[in-house]
Amino acid sequence: MRATTDALPSPPDSRPARRWRLRGKMPPSVRVLLVVVVAAGAAVVAACAVRVAGEPLEHGAVLLVLTAGILLAELFPIRFPGNAEETSFSTSFAFAVMATHGPEYAVLVASGCLIAADAIRRRPAVKVAYNAGQYAISWGAAGLAYLGLAGGPPDELTALGSTELLALLPAGVVHGLVNGSLAPLPGVLLSGGSVREQLRRDRGFVVVTTLLLVALAPIVVVVAANDLWLVPLFGVPLIGIQLASRQLIMDEQRARIDTLTGALTRRELETQLGRRLAGHGPVPAVVVVDLVDFSDVNDALGHRVGDAVLTTVAARLAVAAAEEGPVARVAGDRFALLCAAPRVELAAELLARVLERPVTVENLELDVRAAMGLALGPADSATQLLREAEIALRAAKDRGQPRLRFEADLHAEAADRLALASDLRRAIGAGELVVHYQPKLDIRSGALAGVEALVRWDRPGHGLVPPDAFIGLAERTGLIRPLTSAVLGAAIRDQAAWAADGLQVPVAVNLSARALHAGVVAEVRTLLAGAAGALELEITETTVMRDPERDLVVLEGLAALGVRLSVDDFGTGHSSLAYLARLPVAALKIDRAFVGGLDAETANRSIVSTTVELGHQLGLEVVAEGVEDDATLATLRALGCDLAQGYGIARPMPAGAVPEWAAARAARVSA
Ligand code: C2E
Ligand code: CA
Ligand code: CA
Repeated sequence: MRATTDALPSPPDSRPARRWRLRGKMPPSVRVLLVVVVAAGAAVVAACAVRVAGEPLEHGAVLLVLTAGILLAELFPIRFPGNAEETSFSTSFAFAVMATHGPEYAVLVASGCLIAADAIRRRPAVKVAYNAGQYAISWGAAGLAYLGLAGGPPDELTALGSTELLALLPAGVVHGLVNGSLAPLPGVLLSGGSVREQLRRDRGFVVVTTLLLVALAPIVVVVAANDLWLVPLFGVPLIGIQLASRQLIMDEQRARIDTLTGALTRRELETQLGRRLAGHGPVPAVVVVDLVDFSDVNDALGHRVGDAVLTTVAARLAVAAAEEGPVARVAGDRFALLCAAPRVELAAELLARVLERPVTVENLELDVRAAMGLALGPADSATQLLREAEIALRAAKDRGQPRLRFEADLHAEAADRLALASDLRRAIGAGELVVHYQPKLDIRSGALAGVEALVRWDRPGHGLVPPDAFIGLAERTGLIRPLTSAVLGAAIRDQAAWAADGLQVPVAVNLSARALHAGVVAEVRTLLAGAAGALELEITETTVMRDPERDLVVLEGLAALGVRLSVDDFGTGHSSLAYLARLPVAALKIDRAFVGGLDAETANRSIVSTTVELGHQLGLEVVAEGVEDDATLATLRALGCDLAQGYGIARPMPAGAVPEWAAARAARVSA
């Protein structure tokens, strides 16, 4: 095994005329290292050449076969994926040469073959020079160790005994130590990493693998001494070892590098962060970047597009943060940057800026919205700092802010939210949810056309909690399904009670995106058995844009049960009416943001009138939400809107109040 480096800067292209001109920036430290190593290597080679010059060459055929083995192994090295270094089996053969022909030949043949192989593979000249230099030094050092223990080469190969062959092992350790120290040095200097850290990691690895390969050398020698023709047989186990070690290296790599994006893994980030927290360098900070609504991209456009977005985002973040620190992918659509605490705001700004441009995938321009959480050290552990950044991220998302820095208060807030979530779970089971109903009016006749079920939480000690305070939480925690079931159940029961009272009224229930799943069809089918009137489900525009194909199946299943579907909060999403018309929906509810200031020639007025017109052309009933006064109602009537709902007509009321309200309304209509 030998390690070589690929970390030196490459010339801009590899046309021969330019190969000797180095354009990449090389810091002075690397330049000095290069000169020293190449000069020392050349001196070692020269000394060896002088020592063997004039001496007759014994066992030429053996040397030839072993040299061929070295060259072949050099031409097919084991590359560490994602890493600058590579390794090869040339080591086994070169140590065999050390035993059969002496260390001088080992140095000359090993360095010569490396240069030849690198030249054939057209590696840049600087890299060839550095690798040959450090290689000659490593072999020279190993050779000295060997000479000290075993002396020079024997006259007869069969005279090689266990003393000589076992001396190869300590020589192998020396080779591994020197080679494992020198090979990664340029890369470490260039990346500005910790030399000691890198050496510790790389050198151990190189020494161990070198020893494994050196152990093969005595066998090669014994076989070569017996029958040269058997030497090529070594190719078979070597290929096996090569494949196995490749796999090992890849496994190790996978634990550190995310295979999809090339960013670090969470584990590796935690390791590096932990080191910085414990070290003496600048206090570290973490920026966690989360792609908002990324699951929508995945659901709607497929995982291939999703993966492409993640890869692009990872690449952009890595480039933007190159000066600040490493970027890791810490969860599906979540990245984290490790940087120095004083620069954390700047780093976050850099990351935000590169995400402003849309990501283009397969001719689609996708806007990526990101939320960020920042957390600054010191911290007890890497896990803690990351968690703090993620708490800040959660809070930023909840508050609709692009980014937030962690503070102790957020801990309490996060704890509150957790408590709220577990309390909500209990509340659903304990029947603390109550459903109020808000009438919808037929604008033309003034008659009651239906009611919308709106949930509240009668939370002990908190009064009646409005849905905005817990629907989002329920959606994020998976509680939305039991919540929806509870509301559906209550709505059907209340409707039956009104019917028993002589009031037939359609009831509408809100269905969140997260509650729109295949199981809901079966659930509604069962519920409808006990229904005393029509059921309507309100889905938001964005709901059906999520995964149109899968959702369409569910929506059609619901429609087939006779459930009326309406699009809620229309105008707040990006869907076109033409698209919505392909869905089995019967009505549009214009969002209350557009229902106001309708009397004059306002933008709202034209939005409402166009929506009414287009909706009608597509055969949809149009409902206006948030109608707060009679003037608005009059304008809506003039614009041809079908139904109206709002505080101006009635506020949501408990189920028990509905029959009385309906009776009063009916009396007004007939009057
Ligand atoms: P939404 O579906 O748009 O429901 C209408 C909301 O507007 C209700 O708020 C209602 O009280 C309010 N509103 C009605 N008329 C007016 C008006 O004239 N002016 C103004 N400013 N507001 C008016 P509420 O009950 O607080 O519900 C808020 C949201 O919570 C609902 O918006 C809906 O998205 C969600 N929600 C309520 N109940 C459920 C439920 O059972 N399941 C699901 N998934 N979501 C629900
Ligand atoms: Ca609604
Ligand atoms: Ca609405």
